[in-house]
Amino acid sequence: MILQHYLGGRWLDGTGAATALLDPVTGDELATVAGGGLDLAAALDHARRVGGPALKAMTYAERGALLKAVAEVLTANRDRYNDLSLQNSGATAVDCAFDVDGGIGTLRYFAGLGKGLGDTRHLVEPDMERLGRDESFQTLHVWAPYGGVAIHINAFNFPSWGLWGKVAVALLSGMPVLAKPAAATALLSHAMVKDVIEAGVLPDGALSLLCAGGRELMDLVRPQDVVSFTGSADTARRLRANATVIAAGVPFNIEADSLNAAVLGPDAGPETEEFAAFVKEVLKEMTVKAGQKCTAIRRILVPADRLDAVQEALTAKVVVGDPRQEGVRMGPLVNRAQVQAAEEGLARLTQDARVVFQSDVPRGGAGCFFPATLLRCDDPDGAEAVHAHEVFGPVATLMPYRDAHHAFALVARGEGSLVTSVFTADADFAARASVALAAVNGRVAVVDGSVAKANPGHGVVMPQCLHGGPGRAGGGEEMGGRRALRFYHQRCAIQGSVAHLTRLKETGASFTG
Ligand code: NAP
Repeated sequence: MILQHYLGGRWLDGTGAATALLDPVTGDELATVAGGGLDLAAALDHARRVGGPALKAMTYAERGALLKAVAEVLTANRDRYNDLSLQNSGATAVDCAFDVDGGIGTLRYFAGLGKGLGDTRHLVEPDMERLGRDESFQTLHVWAPYGGVAIHINAFNFPSWGLWGKVAVALLSGMPVLAKPAAATALLSHAMVKDVIEAGVLPDGALSLLCAGGRELMDLVRPQDVVSFTGSADTARRLRANATVIAAGVPFNIEADSLNAAVLGPDAGPETEEFAAFVKEVLKEMTVKAGQKCTAIRRILVPADRLDAVQEALTAKVVVGDPRQEGVRMGPLVNRAQVQAAEEGLARLTQDARVVFQSDVPRGGAGCFFPATLLRCDDPDGAEAVHAHEVFGPVATLMPYRDAHHAFALVARGEGSLVTSVFTADADFAARASVALAAVNGRVAVVDGSVAKANPGHGVVMPQCLHGGPGRAGGGEEMGGRRALRFYHQRCAIQGSVAHLTRLKETGASFTG
């Protein structure tokens, strides 16, 4: 099978060097894709000229209905997508729920949000402000969608959620999208977009798909476009530094590497519900998607006197293998290159920490398996790599802290993370942790025994919550309910008569994002 691209309203073959899409369990080739010889300037132009106006002619509620229609097409084909996810990513049923169901659920969430915004085409902040003594002339801040195209570049680990999470918000905002999934796992993104296009639920030009290549994309951006990137910090740095990107001044969102943490509260002894919830969560985070999750827990911070107890509790049997087999809990990494990167990364971490547990993995054959690996770092203050190098696999490092201040300082050594979870029943510690950790995280989950079951999970990005993080995590913001719309809209201070501003207020959707 050769994957095609959907550009300028047509399915097209690429030329040049092809990437092979493989089954990471068997090594079988599933498809190939080549990204050369494509007129991307024309594709972007089609999206701007045809897709943009069609979307902007609709109201938020109508665009919300588009998202609902897309979600319905995808829901009808969900089993096939799970199968593709198994084939191309080695996904277990739980992994599929994160990616396939996560993508569909996010579309449905933003469909509902669009309905709530009603028959409006712009957003307005709630308050007018006077500009001088004369109250008749005031200002009101209005948000209007950009006139260009949203270019979405995604990482290999979420070919569904990564795609639809971004697409949902851009389309709801009225911006057409050119989506670029990572080539190695584009099979699922391709199948989903093909079904949506064939169902005819989106206006022409609203959604384009580039499955590989795109190295010239950043040279083609124009003012009024936006770029949203998820992937490694190295690639992010290169793309954001592109001269055309800088000259055009386009909004550029980055979701990159992250050394997320979980903190066991000073109060949480081995017999507490918080201790049990903490251990369960860390084990889950290490194994779901074989640790190939941007939000996965990489650093496990526990009071020094509980280091041994936590280590013992985390030394659990994990069945790694082919997800097609009964009882397998963790699948492979996505390809050989990722196995090599994880091996190299693990070697770096062992400069600071020692391996205290590794699960068995099937040996021999073509499978890209990597063992669930727990490291222990007894001197986290003197360590460097465990706070700075993200191993994108089932690898996490246990480390002790002395007191609350020390715990917060260690979390901050990650230099900006997507998420930290804190397990405590101590209300004072919970409050201190929330504020101290908020500056260095995009999300902080505080869990005590009463909410352990209600907590969707450290690694789950709920569309209501902001996803992104400062510093190393890229400094980006996605999701977060209505806040997600900000990225695709320009805020403008409208000055005028109170009558004029009142009219704008009455015809727009109230927005405090
Ligand atoms: P990557 O190598 O940086 O690739 C990311 C995307 O960028 C792919 O679609 C890739 O395309 C594309 N790309 C690479 N160079 C490009 C260029 N010059 N012009 C245009 N596009 C280009 O990252 P990855 O290996 O896929 O993902 C793993 C990393 O992503 C991890 O470090 C992880 O932390 C991070 N991640 C972060 C989040 C988050 O939300 N913060 C989520 C998931 C992953 P090709 O595939 O065609 O090369």
